[in-house]
Amino acid sequence: MKKILIIGAGFAGLAACRILKRIKKEAQLVIIDKNSYSNFLPLLPDVFGRRINPDFLVWPLDRLEKGGVSFINEEVLALNLANKEASTVNNRISYDYLLLACGSETNFYGNDMIRQRALKLDDAHNAQEITAALKNKNFGSCLVAGGGYTGIEISCGLRAYFDSRGMDKKIIIVERAPQILGPLPSWMRDYVLENLSKLNIRVLSGVFIDSAEKDSIRLSSGEILERPLFIWAAGVKAPGFIQNLNIEKTTQGRIKVDEHLSFAQGCFAAGDVANFSYKDNFLRMAVQFAITEGELAAHNINSSIRGRPLKKYRPLDLGYVIPMANNRSCGRVMGFEVRGFLATFLHYSMCIYRSLGFKNKFGLLAELLKGGGRC
Ligand SMILES: Cc1cc2nc3c(=O)[nH]c(=O)nc-3n(C[C@H](O)[C@H](O)[C@H](O)COP(=O)(O)OP(=O)(O)OC[C@H]3O[C@@H](n4cnc5c(N)ncnc54)[C@H](O)[C@@H]3O)c2cc1C
Repeated sequence: MKKILIIGAGFAGLAACRILKRIKKEAQLVIIDKNSYSNFLPLLPDVFGRRINPDFLVWPLDRLEKGGVSFINEEVLALNLANKEASTVNNRISYDYLLLACGSETNFYGNDMIRQRALKLDDAHNAQEITAALKNKNFGSCLVAGGGYTGIEISCGLRAYFDSRGMDKKIIIVERAPQILGPLPSWMRDYVLENLSKLNIRVLSGVFIDSAEKDSIRLSSGEILERPLFIWAAGVKAPGFIQNLNIEKTTQGRIKVDEHLSFAQGCFAAGDVANFSYKDNFLRMAVQFAITEGELAAHNINSSIRGRPLKKYRPLDLGYVIPMANNRSCGRVMGFEVRGFLATFLHYSMCIYRSLGFKNKFGLLAELLKGGGRC
Protein backbone atom coordinates (compact mmCIF):
# COMPACT_ATOMS: atom_id res chain seq x y z
CA MET A 1 0.00 0.00 0.00
CA LYS A 2 1.35 3.45 -0.96
CA LYS A 3 1.81 6.04 1.78
CA ILE A 4 0.82 9.69 1.22
CA LEU A 5 2.20 12.33 3.57
CA ILE A 6 0.62 15.79 3.77
CA ILE A 7 2.64 18.40 5.68
CA GLY A 8 0.33 21.16 6.97
CA ALA A 9 -3.38 20.99 7.82
CA GLY A 10 -4.51 24.43 6.73
CA PHE A 11 -6.75 25.25 3.77
CA ALA A 12 -4.64 23.40 1.19
CA GLY A 13 -3.79 20.35 3.31
CA LEU A 14 -7.37 19.78 4.47
CA ALA A 15 -8.77 20.27 0.94
CA ALA A 16 -6.37 17.56 -0.28
CA CYS A 17 -7.28 15.36 2.67
CA ARG A 18 -11.01 15.53 1.81
CA ILE A 19 -10.25 14.13 -1.68
CA LEU A 20 -7.62 11.57 -0.68
CA LYS A 21 -9.80 10.12 2.11
CA ARG A 22 -11.85 8.55 -0.68
CA ILE A 23 -8.95 6.22 -1.58
CA LYS A 24 -8.01 5.28 1.98
CA LYS A 25 -8.49 1.56 1.19
CA GLU A 26 -5.77 1.78 -1.47
CA ALA A 27 -3.37 4.26 0.14
CA GLN A 28 -2.39 5.16 3.68
CA LEU A 29 -2.97 8.86 4.38
CA VAL A 30 -0.91 10.67 7.03
CA ILE A 31 -1.21 14.39 7.79
CA ILE A 32 1.16 16.19 10.10
CA ASP A 33 0.81 19.66 11.64
CA LYS A 34 2.75 21.51 14.32
CA ASN A 35 -0.57 22.69 15.79
CA SER A 36 -3.30 20.48 17.19
CA TYR A 37 -5.93 22.65 15.48
CA SER A 38 -6.38 24.29 12.09
CA ASN A 39 -6.54 28.11 12.12
CA PHE A 40 -8.94 30.26 10.13
CA LEU A 41 -6.48 33.07 9.34
CA PRO A 42 -8.70 35.62 7.49
CA LEU A 43 -10.65 36.49 10.64
CA LEU A 44 -7.71 36.81 13.06
CA PRO A 45 -7.80 40.64 13.09
CA ASP A 46 -11.50 40.40 14.04
CA VAL A 47 -10.60 38.77 17.36
CA PHE A 48 -9.76 42.24 18.68
CA GLY A 49 -11.55 44.28 15.96
CA ARG A 50 -15.02 42.73 16.24
CA ARG A 51 -14.54 40.75 19.46
CA ILE A 52 -14.94 37.44 17.65
CA ASN A 53 -14.40 34.52 19.98
CA PRO A 54 -11.14 32.86 18.80
CA ASP A 55 -12.66 29.45 19.64
CA PHE A 56 -14.71 29.82 16.43
CA LEU A 57 -11.51 30.25 14.40
CA VAL A 58 -9.96 26.90 15.22
CA TRP A 59 -10.87 23.34 14.31
CA PRO A 60 -9.41 20.35 16.21
CA LEU A 61 -7.30 18.18 13.93
CA ASP A 62 -7.73 14.96 15.92
CA ARG A 63 -11.21 14.83 14.30
CA LEU A 64 -9.43 13.68 11.13
CA GLU A 65 -8.81 10.32 12.80
CA LYS A 66 -12.56 9.60 12.68
CA GLY A 67 -12.33 9.69 8.87
CA GLY A 68 -9.53 7.11 8.86
CA VAL A 69 -6.69 9.64 8.43
CA SER A 70 -3.61 9.39 10.67
CA PHE A 71 -2.87 12.76 12.26
CA ILE A 72 0.53 13.50 13.80
CA ASN A 73 0.79 16.62 15.94
CA GLU A 74 4.48 17.49 15.48
CA GLU A 75 6.57 20.08 13.69
CA VAL A 76 8.50 18.97 10.62
CA LEU A 77 12.08 20.14 11.05
CA ALA A 78 13.72 18.60 7.99
CA LEU A 79 12.83 16.87 4.78
CA ASN A 80 15.02 14.44 2.85
CA LEU A 81 13.62 14.27 -0.68
CA ALA A 82 16.13 11.64 -1.83
CA ASN A 83 15.24 9.24 1.03
CA LYS A 84 11.55 10.26 0.98
CA GLU A 85 11.53 11.01 4.69
CA ALA A 86 10.34 13.88 6.92
CA SER A 87 11.88 14.38 10.37
CA THR A 88 10.47 15.81 13.57
CA VAL A 89 12.09 15.89 17.03
CA ASN A 90 10.70 12.40 17.81
CA ASN A 91 9.95 10.82 14.46
CA ARG A 92 11.11 9.95 11.00
CA ILE A 93 8.14 9.59 8.69
CA SER A 94 8.65 7.90 5.34
CA TYR A 95 6.34 8.39 2.37
CA ASP A 96 5.78 7.42 -1.27
CA TYR A 97 3.94 10.61 -2.22
CA LEU A 98 4.33 14.02 -0.62
CA LEU A 99 2.15 17.12 -0.49
CA LEU A 100 3.72 20.22 1.01
CA ALA A 101 0.91 22.44 2.32
CA CYS A 102 2.70 24.14 5.19
CA GLY A 103 1.65 27.71 4.34
CA SER A 104 3.75 30.72 5.26
CA GLU A 105 4.82 32.51 8.43
CA THR A 106 5.82 36.04 9.42
CA ASN A 107 9.09 37.12 7.88
CA PHE A 108 11.36 39.16 10.15
CA TYR A 109 14.04 39.17 7.43
CA GLY A 110 16.61 37.88 9.95
CA ASN A 111 16.19 40.94 12.21
CA ASP A 112 16.30 39.50 15.76
CA MET A 113 15.84 42.91 17.34
CA ILE A 114 12.44 43.24 15.68
CA ARG A 115 11.50 39.56 16.14
CA GLN A 116 11.99 39.81 19.90
CA ARG A 117 10.18 43.15 20.27
CA ALA A 118 7.20 42.73 17.91
CA LEU A 119 3.88 40.95 18.10
CA LYS A 120 2.81 39.01 14.99
CA LEU A 121 -0.44 37.51 13.68
CA ASP A 122 0.15 33.98 12.38
CA ASP A 123 -2.54 32.13 14.35
CA ALA A 124 -5.38 32.43 16.87
CA HIS A 125 -2.91 32.28 19.75
CA ASN A 126 -1.13 35.39 18.38
CA ALA A 127 -4.52 37.15 18.08
CA GLN A 128 -5.11 36.44 21.78
CA GLU A 129 -1.63 37.78 22.61
CA ILE A 130 -2.47 41.05 20.85
CA THR A 131 -5.80 41.25 22.71
CA ALA A 132 -3.98 40.65 26.02
CA ALA A 133 -1.46 43.39 25.20
CA LEU A 134 -4.35 45.77 24.39
CA LYS A 135 -6.11 44.95 27.67
CA ASN A 136 -2.87 45.54 29.57
CA LYS A 137 -2.96 49.20 28.36
CA ASN A 138 0.75 49.51 29.07
CA PHE A 139 1.60 51.26 25.80
CA GLY A 140 1.64 54.70 24.21
CA SER A 141 0.64 54.52 20.57
CA CYS A 142 0.21 51.57 18.17
CA LEU A 143 2.74 50.94 15.45
CA VAL A 144 1.94 48.51 12.63
CA ALA A 145 4.77 47.65 10.24
CA GLY A 146 3.54 46.73 6.77
CA GLY A 147 1.02 48.46 4.53
CA GLY A 148 -0.33 45.35 2.83
CA TYR A 149 -3.75 43.71 3.37
CA THR A 150 -2.80 42.31 6.78
CA GLY A 151 -1.28 45.53 8.16
CA ILE A 152 -4.34 47.50 7.08
CA GLU A 153 -6.78 44.97 8.54
CA ILE A 154 -4.86 44.94 11.82
CA SER A 155 -4.83 48.75 12.05
CA CYS A 156 -8.57 48.98 11.38
CA GLY A 157 -9.16 46.26 13.98
CA LEU A 158 -7.15 48.27 16.52
CA ARG A 159 -9.20 51.41 15.81
CA ALA A 160 -12.44 49.42 16.25
CA TYR A 161 -11.10 48.07 19.55
CA PHE A 162 -10.28 51.57 20.88
CA ASP A 163 -13.51 53.18 19.63
CA SER A 164 -15.67 50.52 21.23
CA ARG A 165 -13.97 51.27 24.58
CA GLY A 166 -13.89 55.04 24.23
CA MET A 167 -10.09 55.04 24.10
CA ASP A 168 -8.13 57.58 22.09
CA LYS A 169 -4.85 56.06 20.86
CA LYS A 170 -2.63 56.98 17.92
CA ILE A 171 -2.27 54.29 15.25
CA ILE A 172 0.54 54.48 12.72
CA ILE A 173 1.21 52.23 9.71
CA VAL A 174 4.78 52.31 8.38
CA GLU A 175 5.45 51.00 4.89
CA ARG A 176 8.97 50.76 3.47
CA ALA A 177 7.74 51.01 -0.15
CA PRO A 178 6.77 54.40 -1.61
CA GLN A 179 3.07 53.54 -1.27
CA ILE A 180 0.78 51.09 0.54
CA LEU A 181 -0.96 48.24 -1.31
CA GLY A 182 1.64 48.52 -4.09
CA PRO A 183 0.25 46.12 -6.74
CA LEU A 184 -3.44 47.12 -6.42
CA PRO A 185 -5.36 49.50 -8.73
CA SER A 186 -5.06 53.18 -7.83
CA TRP A 187 -8.82 53.64 -7.12
CA MET A 188 -8.58 50.98 -4.42
CA ARG A 189 -5.48 52.51 -2.87
CA ASP A 190 -7.14 55.96 -2.82
CA TYR A 191 -10.31 54.51 -1.29
CA VAL A 192 -8.33 52.73 1.43
CA LEU A 193 -6.17 55.80 2.14
CA GLU A 194 -9.25 58.01 2.47
CA ASN A 195 -10.83 55.50 4.82
CA LEU A 196 -7.67 55.18 6.92
CA SER A 197 -7.65 58.94 7.27
CA LYS A 198 -11.33 58.88 8.40
CA LEU A 199 -10.32 56.30 10.97
CA ASN A 200 -7.53 58.58 12.15
CA ILE A 201 -4.84 56.06 11.17
CA ARG A 202 -1.61 57.71 10.05
CA VAL A 203 0.19 56.16 7.08
CA LEU A 204 3.93 56.72 6.69
CA SER A 205 5.11 55.44 3.31
CA GLY A 206 8.78 55.14 2.38
CA VAL A 207 9.58 54.76 6.09
CA PHE A 208 11.05 51.76 7.92
CA ILE A 209 11.91 50.72 11.48
CA ASP A 210 15.39 51.96 12.27
CA SER A 211 15.75 50.45 15.75
CA ALA A 212 13.42 48.61 18.11
CA GLU A 213 14.26 48.83 21.82
CA LYS A 214 12.03 47.63 24.66
CA ASP A 215 10.86 51.14 25.55
CA SER A 216 11.12 52.99 22.26
CA ILE A 217 11.10 52.48 18.50
CA ARG A 218 12.89 54.80 16.14
CA LEU A 219 11.68 55.24 12.56
CA SER A 220 13.90 55.99 9.59
CA SER A 221 12.21 59.42 9.43
CA GLY A 222 13.82 60.22 12.80
CA GLU A 223 10.54 60.01 14.74
CA ILE A 224 10.78 58.15 18.06
CA LEU A 225 7.73 56.35 19.51
CA GLU A 226 7.74 55.73 23.25
CA ARG A 227 6.47 52.30 24.43
CA PRO A 228 4.37 51.57 21.34
CA LEU A 229 2.31 48.44 20.91
CA PHE A 230 4.29 47.11 17.97
CA ILE A 231 2.84 44.63 15.45
CA TRP A 232 4.93 43.31 12.57
CA ALA A 233 2.99 42.49 9.38
CA ALA A 234 5.62 43.36 6.81
CA GLY A 235 5.85 40.11 4.88
CA VAL A 236 5.80 36.33 5.01
CA LYS A 237 8.09 33.48 4.07
CA ALA A 238 7.93 29.72 3.74
CA PRO A 239 8.59 27.72 6.96
CA GLY A 240 12.25 27.14 7.91
CA PHE A 241 12.64 23.53 6.76
CA ILE A 242 11.63 24.52 3.21
CA GLN A 243 14.51 27.02 3.03
CA ASN A 244 17.00 24.15 3.35
CA LEU A 245 15.61 22.15 0.41
CA ASN A 246 17.74 22.10 -2.68
CA ILE A 247 14.92 22.92 -5.13
CA GLU A 248 13.89 26.00 -7.10
CA LYS A 249 12.33 28.66 -4.86
CA THR A 250 11.42 32.36 -4.86
CA THR A 251 13.05 34.92 -2.57
CA GLN A 252 10.24 34.28 -0.06
CA GLY A 253 11.20 30.59 -0.13
CA ARG A 254 8.02 29.57 -1.97
CA ILE A 255 8.50 26.46 -4.07
CA LYS A 256 8.26 26.88 -7.84
CA VAL A 257 5.77 24.26 -9.00
CA ASP A 258 4.98 23.16 -12.55
CA GLU A 259 1.56 23.16 -14.23
CA HIS A 260 0.64 19.97 -12.30
CA LEU A 261 1.70 21.58 -8.98
CA SER A 262 4.62 19.17 -8.81
CA PHE A 263 8.25 20.06 -7.98
CA ALA A 264 9.89 16.60 -8.02
CA GLN A 265 8.89 13.02 -8.79
CA GLY A 266 5.90 12.16 -6.55
CA CYS A 267 6.17 15.53 -4.73
CA PHE A 268 3.55 18.30 -4.92
CA ALA A 269 3.04 21.66 -3.22
CA ALA A 270 -0.16 23.68 -2.70
CA GLY A 271 -1.24 26.90 -1.00
CA ASP A 272 1.03 29.68 0.23
CA VAL A 273 4.14 27.51 0.07
CA ALA A 274 3.66 26.90 -3.67
CA ASN A 275 4.58 29.50 -6.24
CA PHE A 276 2.46 28.96 -9.33
CA SER A 277 3.28 31.10 -12.31
CA TYR A 278 0.13 32.38 -14.02
CA LYS A 279 -0.32 34.80 -16.94
CA ASP A 280 3.31 36.07 -16.68
CA ASN A 281 2.84 36.68 -12.97
CA PHE A 282 2.41 34.45 -9.92
CA LEU A 283 -0.75 33.71 -7.96
CA ARG A 284 -1.22 35.74 -4.78
CA MET A 285 -1.54 33.95 -1.46
CA ALA A 286 -5.24 33.44 -0.86
CA VAL A 287 -7.66 30.94 0.60
CA GLN A 288 -9.42 30.23 -2.71
CA PHE A 289 -6.15 29.22 -4.43
CA ALA A 290 -4.94 27.19 -1.44
CA ILE A 291 -8.16 25.14 -1.57
CA THR A 292 -8.24 24.55 -5.35
CA GLU A 293 -4.50 23.81 -5.44
CA GLY A 294 -4.90 21.32 -2.57
CA GLU A 295 -7.71 19.62 -4.45
CA LEU A 296 -5.80 19.42 -7.72
CA ALA A 297 -2.61 18.17 -6.03
CA ALA A 298 -4.71 15.43 -4.35
CA HIS A 299 -6.23 14.49 -7.69
CA ASN A 300 -2.73 14.28 -9.23
CA ILE A 301 -1.39 12.14 -6.37
CA ASN A 302 -4.29 9.74 -6.94
CA SER A 303 -3.55 9.72 -10.69
CA SER A 304 0.16 9.11 -10.06
CA ILE A 305 -0.68 6.07 -7.90
CA ARG A 306 -2.90 4.69 -10.68
CA GLY A 307 -0.49 5.55 -13.50
CA ARG A 308 -2.97 7.98 -15.09
CA PRO A 309 -2.07 11.31 -16.76
CA LEU A 310 -1.89 14.35 -14.47
CA LYS A 311 -4.24 17.35 -14.70
CA LYS A 312 -3.03 20.90 -15.24
CA TYR A 313 -3.93 23.53 -12.64
CA ARG A 314 -6.17 26.22 -14.13
CA PRO A 315 -6.93 28.79 -11.41
CA LEU A 316 -10.21 30.63 -11.37
CA ASP A 317 -9.77 33.98 -9.64
CA LEU A 318 -13.01 34.93 -7.86
CA GLY A 319 -11.46 38.18 -6.65
CA TYR A 320 -10.50 39.70 -3.32
CA VAL A 321 -11.69 42.15 -0.69
CA ILE A 322 -9.71 44.35 1.68
CA PRO A 323 -11.89 44.17 4.80
CA MET A 324 -11.99 47.27 6.95
CA ALA A 325 -13.53 47.18 10.41
CA ASN A 326 -15.80 50.22 9.85
CA ASN A 327 -17.49 48.26 7.00
CA ARG A 328 -16.02 50.52 4.31
CA SER A 329 -14.23 47.60 2.64
CA CYS A 330 -13.32 47.46 -1.03
CA GLY A 331 -12.20 44.94 -3.61
CA ARG A 332 -12.80 43.27 -6.92
CA VAL A 333 -15.20 40.31 -6.99
CA MET A 334 -16.03 38.30 -10.15
CA GLY A 335 -14.56 41.14 -12.22
CA PHE A 336 -16.66 43.88 -10.54
CA GLU A 337 -15.41 46.68 -8.31
CA VAL A 338 -17.09 46.45 -4.92
CA ARG A 339 -16.93 48.88 -2.02
CA GLY A 340 -18.61 49.76 1.24
CA PHE A 341 -20.99 47.46 3.05
CA LEU A 342 -21.42 45.14 0.03
CA ALA A 343 -17.68 44.38 0.03
CA THR A 344 -17.78 43.76 3.80
CA PHE A 345 -20.80 41.49 3.40
CA LEU A 346 -19.10 39.45 0.65
CA HIS A 347 -15.93 39.05 2.73
CA TYR A 348 -17.72 37.77 5.83
CA SER A 349 -20.05 35.56 3.77
CA MET A 350 -16.97 33.95 2.22
CA CYS A 351 -15.44 33.50 5.67
CA ILE A 352 -18.52 31.80 7.10
CA TYR A 353 -18.82 29.57 4.02
CA ARG A 354 -15.14 28.53 4.19
CA SER A 355 -14.92 28.03 7.97
CA LEU A 356 -14.84 24.45 9.20
CA GLY A 357 -17.69 22.75 11.05
CA PHE A 358 -21.25 23.81 11.95
CA LYS A 359 -20.23 25.07 15.38
CA ASN A 360 -17.76 27.53 13.88
CA LYS A 361 -20.08 28.61 11.05
CA PHE A 362 -23.03 29.34 13.35
CA GLY A 363 -20.79 30.80 16.05
CA LEU A 364 -19.23 33.24 13.56
CA LEU A 365 -22.60 34.18 12.10
CA ALA A 366 -23.98 34.92 15.58
CA GLU A 367 -20.87 36.92 16.61
CA LEU A 368 -20.91 38.98 13.40
CA LEU A 369 -24.64 39.70 13.63
CA LYS A 370 -24.16 40.73 17.24
CA GLY A 371 -21.38 43.23 16.52
CA GLY A 372 -21.30 43.53 12.72
CA GLY A 373 -21.79 47.27 12.45
CA ARG A 374 -19.32 48.11 15.19
CA CYS A 375 -16.73 50.85 14.85
C1 LIG B 1 -4.24 37.90 9.15
C2 LIG B 1 -4.48 37.25 7.82
C3 LIG B 1 -5.59 37.60 7.08
C4 LIG B 1 -5.83 37.00 5.83
N1 LIG B 1 -6.95 37.35 5.14
C5 LIG B 1 -7.24 36.71 3.98
C6 LIG B 1 -8.45 36.99 3.27
O1 LIG B 1 -9.26 37.83 3.68
N2 LIG B 1 -8.70 36.29 2.12
C7 LIG B 1 -7.82 35.36 1.64
O2 LIG B 1 -8.09 34.75 0.59
N3 LIG B 1 -6.66 35.10 2.28
C8 LIG B 1 -6.36 35.73 3.43
N4 LIG B 1 -5.18 35.45 4.09
C9 LIG B 1 -4.23 34.50 3.47
C10 LIG B 1 -4.72 33.07 3.66
O3 LIG B 1 -5.07 32.86 5.01
C11 LIG B 1 -3.64 32.10 3.20
O4 LIG B 1 -3.38 32.34 1.83
C12 LIG B 1 -4.07 30.66 3.43
O5 LIG B 1 -4.22 30.40 4.81
C13 LIG B 1 -3.06 29.69 2.84
O6 LIG B 1 -3.47 28.38 3.10
P1 LIG B 1 -2.38 27.22 3.29
O7 LIG B 1 -3.13 25.96 3.44
O8 LIG B 1 -1.35 27.33 2.25
O9 LIG B 1 -1.62 27.61 4.64
P2 LIG B 1 -2.19 27.70 6.13
O10 LIG B 1 -3.63 27.89 6.16
O11 LIG B 1 -1.33 28.72 6.79
O12 LIG B 1 -1.85 26.27 6.74
C14 LIG B 1 -0.53 25.82 6.89
C15 LIG B 1 -0.47 24.77 7.97
O13 LIG B 1 0.85 24.21 8.00
C16 LIG B 1 1.25 24.04 9.34
N5 LIG B 1 2.73 24.05 9.38
C17 LIG B 1 3.54 25.08 9.05
N6 LIG B 1 4.83 24.72 9.22
C18 LIG B 1 4.82 23.43 9.65
C19 LIG B 1 5.85 22.50 10.00
N7 LIG B 1 7.13 22.82 9.93
N8 LIG B 1 5.47 21.28 10.42
C20 LIG B 1 4.15 20.94 10.51
N9 LIG B 1 3.14 21.78 10.20
C21 LIG B 1 3.48 23.01 9.76
C22 LIG B 1 0.60 25.21 10.06
O14 LIG B 1 0.47 24.94 11.45
C23 LIG B 1 -0.74 25.32 9.35
O15 LIG B 1 -1.74 24.57 9.99
C24 LIG B 1 -4.92 36.02 5.32
C25 LIG B 1 -3.79 35.67 6.08
C26 LIG B 1 -3.57 36.27 7.31
C27 LIG B 1 -2.36 35.86 8.12
